Amino acid sequence: MRDEARRLDAADPLAAFRGRFVVAEEAGAYLDGNSLGRLPRAAAARARELVEREWGEGLIGSWNRGWLDLPARVGAGIAAVLGAAPDEVLVADSTSVNLFKLAVAALRRQAPRRRILTDDLNFPSDHHVLRSALAAVGGDPSADLEVVRSPDGVTVPPDLLLAAVTPETALVSVSHTAFKSAYTYPLAEVTAAARDRGALVLWDLSHSAGSVPTDLRAAGADLAVGCTYKYLCGGPGSPAFLYVRRELQEELENPVGGWFGAAEPFAFSLDYTPAPGLRRFLTGTPPVVSLALVECGVDLVREAGLPAIRAKSVAQTEYLIRGWEARLAPLGYALASPRESARRGSHVSLRHPEAGRITQALIAEHGVIPDFRAPDCVRLGVCPLYTRYEELARAQEALAEVVVSRAYEAYPEQTAGVT
Ligand SMILES: *Cc1c(COP(=O)(O)O)cnc(C)c1O
Repeated sequence: MRDEARRLDAADPLAAFRGRFVVAEEAGAYLDGNSLGRLPRAAAARARELVEREWGEGLIGSWNRGWLDLPARVGAGIAAVLGAAPDEVLVADSTSVNLFKLAVAALRRQAPRRRILTDDLNFPSDHHVLRSALAAVGGDPSADLEVVRSPDGVTVPPDLLLAAVTPETALVSVSHTAFKSAYTYPLAEVTAAARDRGALVLWDLSHSAGSVPTDLRAAGADLAVGCTYKYLCGGPGSPAFLYVRRELQEELENPVGGWFGAAEPFAFSLDYTPAPGLRRFLTGTPPVVSLALVECGVDLVREAGLPAIRAKSVAQTEYLIRGWEARLAPLGYALASPRESARRGSHVSLRHPEAGRITQALIAEHGVIPDFRAPDCVRLGVCPLYTRYEELARAQEALAEVVVSRAYEAYPEQTAGVT
């Protein structure tokens, strides 16, 4: 198994990109890049330059030497990754806050339609935010949020979702790639079918951006948000992005209007006139330090190119599924991700009744870092810019070993903190 992995690593066209990241450990396996991407070496250097020179020496003058443009400039880089036009993506706030802004804006545009459709694979924060958005426009969060149930806990057939779009549906809001199962919707098909029925679609691209192609412009996608600290390697808590199709930008109103979204922030006028274009979706001062670092990860994704990243991601998740079938299924692990690669993002979820304790044993005894998603999922994330096949082989050996030896029994049922 290790030999096959080494052969695949030797033939990997993206192998050199691993050296562009800080890798402190070589013995274990980091399979949690879908939760927090590794640190690009360029970002460490950029942080030093930004803090010591631009802030330390340049002080307030640095706003006019590049800082003011950062939300749009970094947004344009992300747009290239998402298949959007440069002026259709902006970086601001967190994914949750951006989702709120775009959901409220969409609900107002879509009146008198007032219902939101989502699914039960969507990220819990998205559900909380969509309810808050309904409350903000005077809707009933319980009655007006309709949740389509996944029949198998892994997928939602597009027809099942689309059948629930009614003349009252203002907005369909789902994750393009589901955080637990990695199920990926056909973006263009859902967008077009929802539009035919008069609904807008607001995609959460958090688990797709930088790993799964989205081609937003070709699909005519309306709205999207997503996170930059996963496959885009922006760093812990780095600000998120939002996308609004150009033709919709002037039709939508930011529900949290603030000076950075005003036409002339430095006129200090008490009247609010929204900026033309997408900039109206800014609210307050951008977090310059973490925002600037996002560019380093995005540049690496663009340099490698999404087609090569996606090809390796598919090959690595297929490798994990082959190994699961041969060695892990007989030990009680069940596959909780789609078998069909076209419908799967860049991680593989395995279910096991002892998943929580298994994850603890993997980390403590093998240096293998996946993550645990309650109640019973171990997620194995591959980030093609730095994940090696050898890491996948190690992870699978460790997954087998801790079950065969019952090593997981030494760990507590409950854990605190980030998992
Ligand atoms: C990671 C993730 C988020 C993160 O939201 P924040 O508000 O930036 O913390 C949101 N949605 C999905 C689907 C995610 O995977």
